[in-house]
Amino acid sequence: MDNFSFDEMWEKIMACDSSYDGLFYTAVKTTKIYCRPSCRSRKPKKINVDFYETIPEAVEAGFRACKRCQPDAGLSPQMELVKSVKSFLVQHYKEPLVLQDIADFAGVSPFYLERQFKQATSETPREYLEKIRVDKAAHLLKNTSLTNLEICYEAGFQSPSNFYKVFRTVLDCSPSEFRNK
Ligand SMILES: [Zn+2]
Repeated sequence: MDNFSFDEMWEKIMACDSSYDGLFYTAVKTTKIYCRPSCRSRKPKKINVDFYETIPEAVEAGFRACKRCQPDAGLSPQMELVKSVKSFLVQHYKEPLVLQDIADFAGVSPFYLERQFKQATSETPREYLEKIRVDKAAHLLKNTSLTNLEICYEAGFQSPSNFYKVFRTVLDCSPSEFRNK
Protein backbone atom coordinates (compact mmCIF):
# COMPACT_ATOMS: atom_id res chain seq x y z
CA MET A 1 0.00 0.00 0.00
CA ASP A 2 1.81 3.11 -1.22
CA ASN A 3 -0.72 5.75 -0.30
CA PHE A 4 -1.11 5.17 3.42
CA SER A 5 1.26 4.11 6.15
CA PHE A 6 0.26 1.30 8.49
CA ASP A 7 -0.48 3.83 11.22
CA GLU A 8 -2.70 5.92 8.96
CA MET A 9 -4.76 2.86 8.03
CA TRP A 10 -4.91 1.90 11.69
CA GLU A 11 -6.28 5.37 12.56
CA LYS A 12 -8.93 5.02 9.87
CA ILE A 13 -10.16 1.64 11.07
CA MET A 14 -10.24 2.83 14.68
CA ALA A 15 -12.47 5.69 13.49
CA CYS A 16 -14.68 3.27 11.44
CA ASP A 17 -14.22 5.77 8.61
CA SER A 18 -16.30 4.61 5.63
CA SER A 19 -14.63 7.20 3.36
CA TYR A 20 -11.86 4.71 2.67
CA ASP A 21 -13.99 1.62 2.07
CA GLY A 22 -12.86 -0.17 -1.07
CA LEU A 23 -9.38 1.36 -0.97
CA PHE A 24 -7.89 -1.16 1.42
CA TYR A 25 -8.95 -4.12 3.60
CA THR A 26 -8.18 -5.00 7.20
CA ALA A 27 -7.16 -8.62 7.70
CA VAL A 28 -7.13 -10.11 11.18
CA LYS A 29 -4.50 -12.81 11.54
CA THR A 30 -6.12 -14.50 14.55
CA THR A 31 -9.59 -14.94 12.99
CA LYS A 32 -8.50 -15.13 9.31
CA ILE A 33 -11.27 -12.64 8.44
CA TYR A 34 -10.94 -9.51 6.30
CA CYS A 35 -13.09 -6.39 6.67
CA ARG A 36 -13.85 -2.97 5.29
CA PRO A 37 -12.17 -0.08 7.15
CA SER A 38 -15.60 0.99 8.45
CA CYS A 39 -16.53 -2.41 9.96
CA ARG A 40 -18.13 -2.04 13.38
CA SER A 41 -17.02 -5.43 14.70
CA ARG A 42 -14.82 -5.47 17.78
CA LYS A 43 -11.41 -3.98 16.97
CA PRO A 44 -8.52 -6.42 16.75
CA LYS A 45 -5.20 -5.90 18.48
CA LYS A 46 -2.81 -3.86 16.36
CA ILE A 47 -0.24 -6.65 16.19
CA ASN A 48 -2.83 -9.03 14.71
CA VAL A 49 -3.66 -6.79 11.76
CA ASP A 50 -2.43 -6.83 8.19
CA PHE A 51 -3.66 -4.54 5.42
CA TYR A 52 -4.36 -5.53 1.83
CA GLU A 53 -5.03 -3.25 -1.08
CA THR A 54 -7.31 -5.69 -2.93
CA ILE A 55 -9.66 -8.56 -2.10
CA PRO A 56 -7.78 -11.15 -4.22
CA GLU A 57 -4.63 -10.43 -2.22
CA ALA A 58 -6.46 -11.00 1.06
CA VAL A 59 -8.09 -14.19 -0.23
CA GLU A 60 -4.77 -15.42 -1.60
CA ALA A 61 -3.29 -14.96 1.87
CA GLY A 62 -6.02 -17.19 3.34
CA PHE A 63 -8.57 -14.68 4.66
CA ARG A 64 -12.39 -14.95 4.41
CA ALA A 65 -14.83 -12.05 4.03
CA CYS A 66 -16.45 -10.74 7.22
CA LYS A 67 -20.16 -11.59 7.41
CA ARG A 68 -20.94 -8.32 9.11
CA CYS A 69 -19.45 -5.68 6.77
CA GLN A 70 -19.46 -7.91 3.64
CA PRO A 71 -16.41 -6.44 1.94
CA ASP A 72 -16.89 -8.82 -1.03
CA ALA A 73 -20.45 -7.72 -1.85
CA GLY A 74 -20.75 -6.80 -5.53
CA LEU A 75 -20.61 -3.15 -6.51
CA SER A 76 -23.16 -1.36 -8.70
CA PRO A 77 -21.76 0.48 -11.75
CA GLN A 78 -22.21 3.71 -9.80
CA MET A 79 -20.17 2.39 -6.86
CA GLU A 80 -17.50 1.08 -9.23
CA LEU A 81 -17.17 4.60 -10.64
CA VAL A 82 -17.01 6.10 -7.14
CA LYS A 83 -14.43 3.56 -6.01
CA SER A 84 -12.15 4.17 -8.98
CA VAL A 85 -12.43 7.96 -8.51
CA LYS A 86 -11.64 7.67 -4.79
CA SER A 87 -8.63 5.56 -5.57
CA PHE A 88 -7.48 8.10 -8.20
CA LEU A 89 -7.86 10.95 -5.68
CA VAL A 90 -5.97 9.07 -2.97
CA GLN A 91 -3.08 8.62 -5.40
CA HIS A 92 -3.10 12.18 -6.77
CA TYR A 93 -4.13 14.36 -3.83
CA LYS A 94 -0.83 16.29 -3.99
CA GLU A 95 -1.63 17.57 -7.48
CA PRO A 96 -3.70 20.72 -8.13
CA LEU A 97 -6.68 18.75 -9.44
CA VAL A 98 -9.84 20.37 -10.78
CA LEU A 99 -13.11 18.57 -11.47
CA GLN A 100 -12.31 18.34 -15.19
CA ASP A 101 -9.10 16.37 -14.45
CA ILE A 102 -11.04 13.90 -12.34
CA ALA A 103 -13.76 13.56 -14.98
CA ASP A 104 -11.11 13.01 -17.68
CA PHE A 105 -9.63 10.19 -15.60
CA ALA A 106 -13.07 8.60 -15.16
CA GLY A 107 -14.01 9.09 -18.82
CA VAL A 108 -17.30 10.83 -18.02
CA SER A 109 -18.49 14.45 -18.03
CA PRO A 110 -17.83 16.63 -14.96
CA PHE A 111 -21.58 17.07 -14.47
CA TYR A 112 -22.27 13.33 -14.59
CA LEU A 113 -19.35 12.56 -12.29
CA GLU A 114 -20.34 15.09 -9.68
CA ARG A 115 -23.97 13.97 -9.66
CA GLN A 116 -23.14 10.25 -9.38
CA PHE A 117 -20.48 10.80 -6.73
CA LYS A 118 -22.71 13.03 -4.64
CA GLN A 119 -25.62 10.59 -4.90
CA ALA A 120 -23.46 7.73 -3.65
CA THR A 121 -21.43 9.49 -0.95
CA SER A 122 -23.37 12.72 -0.22
CA GLU A 123 -20.23 14.69 -0.94
CA THR A 124 -18.67 16.05 -4.12
CA PRO A 125 -15.35 14.79 -5.50
CA ARG A 126 -13.86 18.14 -4.40
CA GLU A 127 -15.08 17.65 -0.83
CA TYR A 128 -13.72 14.11 -0.81
CA LEU A 129 -10.34 15.31 -2.05
CA GLU A 130 -10.29 17.92 0.70
CA LYS A 131 -11.08 15.27 3.29
CA ILE A 132 -8.14 13.16 2.11
CA ARG A 133 -5.88 16.21 2.41
CA VAL A 134 -7.20 17.13 5.86
CA ASP A 135 -6.77 13.52 7.09
CA LYS A 136 -3.21 13.54 5.74
CA ALA A 137 -2.49 16.89 7.43
CA ALA A 138 -4.06 15.72 10.72
CA HIS A 139 -1.88 12.61 10.68
CA LEU A 140 1.27 14.69 10.06
CA LEU A 141 0.34 17.22 12.76
CA LYS A 142 -0.02 14.44 15.34
CA ASN A 143 2.92 12.30 14.28
CA THR A 144 5.65 14.57 12.93
CA SER A 145 7.36 17.84 13.86
CA LEU A 146 6.86 19.37 10.40
CA THR A 147 5.71 23.01 10.44
CA ASN A 148 2.20 24.00 9.43
CA LEU A 149 3.56 25.39 6.17
CA GLU A 150 5.39 22.16 5.33
CA ILE A 151 2.31 20.13 6.15
CA CYS A 152 0.17 22.42 4.00
CA TYR A 153 2.12 21.47 0.88
CA GLU A 154 2.82 17.88 1.94
CA ALA A 155 -0.92 17.29 2.22
CA GLY A 156 -1.59 18.76 -1.22
CA PHE A 157 -3.07 22.15 -0.35
CA GLN A 158 -2.22 24.84 -2.86
CA SER A 159 -1.83 27.71 -0.37
CA PRO A 160 -1.74 28.26 3.41
CA SER A 161 -4.99 30.24 3.29
CA ASN A 162 -6.73 27.35 1.54
CA PHE A 163 -5.20 24.91 4.06
CA TYR A 164 -6.45 26.87 7.10
CA LYS A 165 -9.90 27.41 5.63
CA VAL A 166 -10.50 23.79 4.59
CA PHE A 167 -8.98 22.38 7.79
CA ARG A 168 -11.30 24.49 9.91
CA THR A 169 -14.32 23.58 7.81
CA VAL A 170 -13.68 19.84 8.21
CA LEU A 171 -12.32 19.61 11.77
CA ASP A 172 -13.69 22.79 13.33
CA CYS A 173 -10.34 23.99 14.68
CA SER A 174 -7.06 25.39 13.36
CA PRO A 175 -4.10 23.09 12.55
CA SER A 176 -2.21 24.41 15.60
CA GLU A 177 -5.17 23.85 17.91
CA PHE A 178 -5.50 20.33 16.52
CA ARG A 179 -1.82 19.61 17.16
CA ASN A 180 -2.03 20.82 20.77
CA LYS A 181 -5.17 18.84 21.63
ZN1 LIG B 1 -16.19 -6.71 9.04
